[in-house]
Amino acid sequence: MKTRNDLLKLDALDPLAPLRDLFDLPEGVIYLDGNSLGARPNSALARAGQVIAAEWGHDLIRSWNTAGWFDLPKRLGNRLAPLIGAVEGEVVVTDTTSVNLFKALAAAVQVSTNSGRRVIVTERENFPTDIYMAQGLARWLDDGYQVKLVDSPAQLAASIDADTAVVMLTHVNYRTGRLHDMQAITAHAHAQGALTVWDLAHSAGAVPVDLHGAQADFAVGCTYKYLNGGPGSPAFIWVPARHQAHFSHPLTGWWGHAAPFAMAADFTQVKGIGRALCGTQPIVSLALVESGLEIFEQTSMHAVRQKSLALTDLFIELVEQRCASHPLTLATPRAHAERGSHVSFGHPHGYAVMQALIERGVIGDYREPSLMRFGFTPLYTSYADVWDAVEILRQILDDHAYDTAAARGAVT
Ligand SMILES: *Cc1c(COP(=O)(O)O)cnc(C)c1O
Repeated sequence: MKTRNDLLKLDALDPLAPLRDLFDLPEGVIYLDGNSLGARPNSALARAGQVIAAEWGHDLIRSWNTAGWFDLPKRLGNRLAPLIGAVEGEVVVTDTTSVNLFKALAAAVQVSTNSGRRVIVTERENFPTDIYMAQGLARWLDDGYQVKLVDSPAQLAASIDADTAVVMLTHVNYRTGRLHDMQAITAHAHAQGALTVWDLAHSAGAVPVDLHGAQADFAVGCTYKYLNGGPGSPAFIWVPARHQAHFSHPLTGWWGHAAPFAMAADFTQVKGIGRALCGTQPIVSLALVESGLEIFEQTSMHAVRQKSLALTDLFIELVEQRCASHPLTLATPRAHAERGSHVSFGHPHGYAVMQALIERGVIGDYREPSLMRFGFTPLYTSYADVWDAVEILRQILDDHAYDTAAARGAVT
């Protein structure tokens, strides 16, 4: 059996350990929720000060040019691209994941207009906003489009057929942490004549992603989760060069115009990835995304993945050893090839137990039904953190030190 000392030794040998100093984490907190809101990079505070005081306060509107505000979505997209197997000129950081998904889906279904294909395939277990956006688009198109909800990953392949226009999937499931085989599913979808849209919300910065290697068609994702961009920071959208010439969507705002400052009355779409933009960006929030991205340039997704798997393996092993007498059920796949970077355990009082954990400084979160979700972010989580988190969980469960009547906040 492992001891806490064994884990301190692992921490001493961990090549990623020094990166923790690049984050500002409060004393006494073990933060296991970087899959929902990443921790704050130290440099974000100075960056915010610079944007607010110098660029906005002093340089005022000149900053659109002098501080590069106008090009920021593309510059950040280029910096993010290597993390997802994309190249320059294919990614912009803009809008929200929901809105980007709408644009990508609209562009993808448009390709099918004349093919008679009218089905968007996704999973019932997908993150709800993804399903809602697809349903909203299908309803709006009013052309026979429908969203097919597949009940289990095992039924996915058989659900993709000659009626399928688009397969829209989230790479890592937000509840269970299950990881899809992007390459195999994309190849199968293409063999059936369908396009793929991948949501990388729980993948970007968490697991290695190779969009080009998988020959995926479109992708979107968050920057406020594993990429540590800050609360509500803008999302990203990827359109590979081979799809850009025919990429069009209904949100034809002026930022997607070929000459926005010509102020013409007619819309002429710009060439390249700029056509995925719509309107003016939230520059203060957008600028902070850079603080998160620059940290990834000090390591590799390979190193992040090695440590992520070691952390999640360790967490599962310790919970199963030390909390064996409690009714915990693992919802996350054990196979590495099927696991993202978070681990979920079901417990009949999952919500109350998670509240007790948070009160004692172990911050995870809760997802219906009864799942306690623990995110493992190799940039700032240590092996000893895993030990300490499990020890606090064990104490709470052994002592029944949780309040099953705990009131729920608006956000769980
Ligand atoms: C977090 C998450 C979102 C969030 O979308 P927003 O538009 O930023 O609210 C969407 N989809 C998935 C799969 C997510 O995990």
